[in-house]
Amino acid sequence: MPVDRTSTLPELIAEAQRVLAICNACRYCEGFCAVFPALERRLAFNEHDVHYLANLCHNCGACLYACQYAPPHEFQLNFPRALAQVRAQTYRRYAWPAALAGAFERNGLVMSLVTAAALAIVLAASAWFAGPERFFAAWSDAQGSFYAVLPHGVMAGIFGAVFAFALLLASCSGGGGDGSVPPAAPPRRCGGSSRAPRPWRCRPAV
Ligand code: SF4
Ligand code: SF4
Repeated sequence: MPVDRTSTLPELIAEAQRVLAICNACRYCEGFCAVFPALERRLAFNEHDVHYLANLCHNCGACLYACQYAPPHEFQLNFPRALAQVRAQTYRRYAWPAALAGAFERNGLVMSLVTAAALAIVLAASAWFAGPERFFAAWSDAQGSFYAVLPHGVMAGIFGAVFAFALLLASCSGGGGDGSVPPAAPPRRCGGSSRAPRPWRCRPAV
């Protein structure tokens, strides 16, 4: 969805906190995705909670279509949009290297260039490993078919590089984002039910 350039991050966070509080009281959508079980472990939502929850959402829209408080209801609750707008801001805030954060503003151009470069690298690596003539011959299953054109070593190398980059990012961030996300409150028992606790109904287990 397009980035909201008219609202500041504090305004987006405030809106997300409003809808999260309503959803935490309603909980109709608790089986839809990982966002709802995670939000139900909290009674209040600070900015880091909102960042975390926004990045759990994959924007499927299911909760919007199910929501009885969506527009034209006076609550004007659009849960996916509130999280998506915060998420777009977090992409820029937590980008690493930080100099690339501005790429999110020009993602069409950047993605086109990155895709073209990635394809060129894959083809060049394949040609270097297996020989350029392999691209122009027919290969049966018995001859290795797909792997005769794109060798297994090339695929393993590409995904190995991605894995190494992910490890590098994890080590740079201390394995926990910026290290400032507080842990959620532990779940409380709710009358022996396997459902998520409902704070206005339940007492902590003794
Ligand atoms: S999106 Fe709507 S229906 Fe779903 S939990 Fe939130 S308030 Fe309830
Ligand atoms: S739009 Fe996001 S929060 Fe809503 S159901 Fe889909 S993934 Fe969950």
